[in-house]
Amino acid sequence: MTATFLGIHTGSFSSPAAGNPTVVMVEAAYRHHGIDARYLNCEVAPGALRDAVGGARAMGWAGFNCSLPHKVAVIDHLDRLAESAEVIGAVNTVVATHGELVGHNTDGQGFVESLRTVVDPAGLEVVVLGAGGAARAVAVETALAGAARVTVVNRTERRGAELARLVTAGTGVPAASVPWDQPYAVPATTDVVVHATSVGFGDGDALVALELDSLREGLVVADVVVSPPRTALLRAAEARGARTLDGLGMLVGQGALAVRHWTGIDPDREVMRTAAIAALRI
Ligand code: NDP
Repeated sequence: MTATFLGIHTGSFSSPAAGNPTVVMVEAAYRHHGIDARYLNCEVAPGALRDAVGGARAMGWAGFNCSLPHKVAVIDHLDRLAESAEVIGAVNTVVATHGELVGHNTDGQGFVESLRTVVDPAGLEVVVLGAGGAARAVAVETALAGAARVTVVNRTERRGAELARLVTAGTGVPAASVPWDQPYAVPATTDVVVHATSVGFGDGDALVALELDSLREGLVVADVVVSPPRTALLRAAEARGARTLDGLGMLVGQGALAVRHWTGIDPDREVMRTAAIAALRI
């Protein structure tokens, strides 16, 4: 008797799970490429994470995404971590590989993929605004991609200093932190500024404390905020001649890299971007 192929099972564990745009985006990629796979959006409370991971293991899932609040806690339930997840200390994508569950972090890799559509960070001076989960992924992965120097600017100085230390220790790239107790003027030597705080999420007029006239022609200004994608920061940067990059590219990139891990197929980014825009109604 021949075994029946049941298809590839993938999904996301988070809480709250409702409104997660990755579901629509990944399912659109599966459909477009004719991949026999499903992506299930699962509401998983913190106390249920161990059982959820055990369930995915028992059912032979190809892998799953972890979103808030599980990105760090999931590490205790995995067999090992890939390099950047190890340095970042957080996992957003778990991949079943040869019987092991391996933790990856495709957030920062998705960001770098998106950044490369505008500029290659190798050899460049990068400023990261923020030191939370998104900023950690962006700072570490940009350093791993060869940035010459990373400067972390964060409201809570201790967290900024911690991230700068982590970048240097984990990647060997020189990094420093700057206190953010007054509007920040982007130094003239900076090539790329990445806004990775939560300011602007759900509010197209919110803006972090910056000397806006330090956003000049030739500078690349990237925002990780997805909704709305045309943030006040990007509009201000455009008005001063800077090149800009919205957070959708990072969202699509992290999802596309996860799909590639799970299925071996490198999916069409445009199909995923269109699906994400529809899901987010932006
Ligand atoms: P965290 O809660 O981990 O970190 C929030 C960061 O924002 C901290 O550095 C915090 O500083 C800073 N911050 C908050 N309020 C202010 C303020 N008023 N002024 C200055 N700094 C402030 O959030 P995440 O890193 O998980 O998420 C950040 C953003 O990134 C969100 O909009 C999220 O949606 C987006 N994101 C986008 C992704 C994508 O694929 N495009 C992927 C992941 C996240 P402090 O340390 O002082 O509190």
